[in-house]
Amino acid sequence: MPVMKRSEDGSLLIPADLLGPLGLAPGDRVAVEADAEGRLVLTRSAAREPSAEGSLRQAIARKNLETPMQFIKGVGPKMAEILARKGIVTVEDALYLLPNRYEDRRQVVPMNRLRPGETCVFTGEVVSADVVTTKGGRRFFEVMARDASGVMSFKWFNYHAAFMRKAWQPGRRGIFTGQVTQYGLQREVHHPDVDWLAEGEAVEAAMARDPVGFGRLVPVYPLTEGLNQKALRKVMKEVVDRFAPCVESALPARVIRERALLPLAEALGAVHFPAADADPRALEEGRDPAHRTLVFDEFFFLELGLALKRRGVTLEQGIAFSVNHTYTKPLLKLLPFALTEAQRRVLAEIKADMMAPHPMHRLVQGDVGCGKTLVALLAALVAVENGYQVAIMAPTEILAEQHYLNIHRWCEQLGVTVALLTSSLKGKARAGALERVARGEAQIVIGTHAVIQDKVEFHRLGLGIVDEQHRFGVLQRGLLRKKGENPDILVMTATPIPRTLAMTVFGDLSLSVIDELPPGRTPVETKICTDSRRRQVYGIIRDEVGSGHQAYVIYPLVEESEKSELKAATQMAEHLANDVFPDLRLGVLHGRMKPEEKEAVMRSFKEREIDILVSTTVIEVGIDVPNATVMVIEHAERFGLSQLHQLRGRVGRGSATSRCILMASDRLSDDGVKRLRVMESTTDGFRIAEADLEIRGPGDFLGTRQAGIPDFRVANILRDGRILEEARAEAFDLGGRDPELRAPGHEPLREELARRWGGRLELAGVA
Ligand code: ADP
Ligand code: MG
Repeated sequence: MPVMKRSEDGSLLIPADLLGPLGLAPGDRVAVEADAEGRLVLTRSAAREPSAEGSLRQAIARKNLETPMQFIKGVGPKMAEILARKGIVTVEDALYLLPNRYEDRRQVVPMNRLRPGETCVFTGEVVSADVVTTKGGRRFFEVMARDASGVMSFKWFNYHAAFMRKAWQPGRRGIFTGQVTQYGLQREVHHPDVDWLAEGEAVEAAMARDPVGFGRLVPVYPLTEGLNQKALRKVMKEVVDRFAPCVESALPARVIRERALLPLAEALGAVHFPAADADPRALEEGRDPAHRTLVFDEFFFLELGLALKRRGVTLEQGIAFSVNHTYTKPLLKLLPFALTEAQRRVLAEIKADMMAPHPMHRLVQGDVGCGKTLVALLAALVAVENGYQVAIMAPTEILAEQHYLNIHRWCEQLGVTVALLTSSLKGKARAGALERVARGEAQIVIGTHAVIQDKVEFHRLGLGIVDEQHRFGVLQRGLLRKKGENPDILVMTATPIPRTLAMTVFGDLSLSVIDELPPGRTPVETKICTDSRRRQVYGIIRDEVGSGHQAYVIYPLVEESEKSELKAATQMAEHLANDVFPDLRLGVLHGRMKPEEKEAVMRSFKEREIDILVSTTVIEVGIDVPNATVMVIEHAERFGLSQLHQLRGRVGRGSATSRCILMASDRLSDDGVKRLRVMESTTDGFRIAEADLEIRGPGDFLGTRQAGIPDFRVANILRDGRILEEARAEAFDLGGRDPELRAPGHEPLREELARRWGGRLELAGVA
């Protein structure tokens, strides 16, 4: 057995007689990695050696990808402008503009074999062409054509008769492309594309003139507005032929091999202009190797970034809290109920993290009303018991105030000081609050993003709690961490986020799920009602109040600060008070009221001094009145499903059956109705979130930009969940073994990661 030695610079000297068996040549760079079974895998990475020549070539390739589209043959100023409007400026942008479907133009189909629903290529001769008027007076232009096997009717419903007659002269031969439809026994093609054959020209010869449009699976691009597919296709062919080879995979060769991926250049080529034997179904559903490759690549770099962030955090020195029960025990004694099993479990997970000497970075996910606030408070008290401060950050002033009211109520009895810090706190009051925070007198500080502003200084921040995380991004979390010396971070989200999405957005956090509601809750019956049935709805409210219960009427204020919207809500309240329920006790609640006023109204509702509470979405959180059994939500269509779910969570808290009535406009679109129907059919927050995601797409659902995750170019989070899991596994594995990405062959990874994430990794402490 030949012995290997180390050279002075630390590299391994491999004896010459081993090179052959290992498949290596002098000068090769080699990456050594362990595979899943712990075997060592040698990967040659000669192609990526950062030699002067190699990196120059790479730099040129990258530069090439920045070529503006207007320099491409066939792209005139008009096309360039239309493309630019869709965000396609460089050839790289264009490479990632994927077809949304394909037309099978591989074969010329005889007319008698054309099947309804398929887009086909066929040839023939025009037999007749003229305007036809139906008995009902409708006019269309019809062409009859025939080939050796049969005849076919072509129809146009918008046409210029003179122009059509001139083009479609009997006897003319052409290659036609179109989708066949069937009406009864009649098969027809509406407005087919045509390529005319010259006198005596063979079909094969004509098709060979347009190799982009015939004899293959032809891409159809999603941007049709103002662009002609044929012209765009030619441009794309040029772009793909010339520039796809410039795209290099940064993925380790081992991953490409083991995951059966293609080189990126090849995948891009195949996605635009698939091979003759490709499966068009698989292509359209994104199941083919080319799509898989592109999606994997995209997810991999997202997950690698997250993996490194997570690792960076867990390696750092953090606070090791001890659990001494000074405040937590007394709080548990004060509570009129016991923690649920799920709360107990999640609290234990949090405590374990807090006791560890590394910063906690944990997400608590749980449906409305599952008791997250309480869990957060218990975690906060652990920090306070250790002499640290806690910051609790909510996305809006209203939510911050609600938390303040809830938490202050308990802390007062425990002797723990709580401060509220929002941007509406001004002047002396603000200065005083900041002072108390800086001196450490305020043990728990609750606020909006105001909490992470530059001017706020903590005496000794030990734990940051972020509520409703999806409205914040990775960046804000980073800023919060900087307010202390590696404080623990706990993130709470009331929106149940589908697993795949949670993995991409919160991929750098550990996850706890509170999957149990406190006992004694009954599912809420939900119904959509239109305006025309308003009287009946008021009848329901009256009945419920008559039997001793209470009701909510919720009015949507998209912007709580909008005066006009507020007016609509207050007018509605007046109308209800004066005209509809003059004999009942009404209360009004909105975001413009002072915290004390709001508190007073909520308290009287709780104490049954108010029968009907007309409110804006202020009550989304905080208020908890088991005796309230009806909720009427006005203009329900204006809310997101997840928000409706949150609102609805305010009823059904007692043992009586509760109802939620979604008032919708009579003119609501079918899609709008379909969306609201989800609320009727389930009370499962996860299902609702999934539906919301499906309807609105991940961008809208999370506000992708705010959430600080890169936009997806090719991946579809709903479709590609499996690939996401694979990419995540590889990325976390690699990130664990080579967290600095310094192993040979990993340079391109580092570069690519920086390119895709921009500066966004830095704040989390990992560059
Ligand atoms: P979330 O923030 O998860 O929507 P909350 O923390 O607001 O839920 O809790 C909803 C209500 O349930 C609050 O009134 C809270 O006091 C109560 N609650 C929390 N935990 C329990 C429990 N284990 N048993 C009974 N009620 C609970
Ligand atoms: Mg809450």
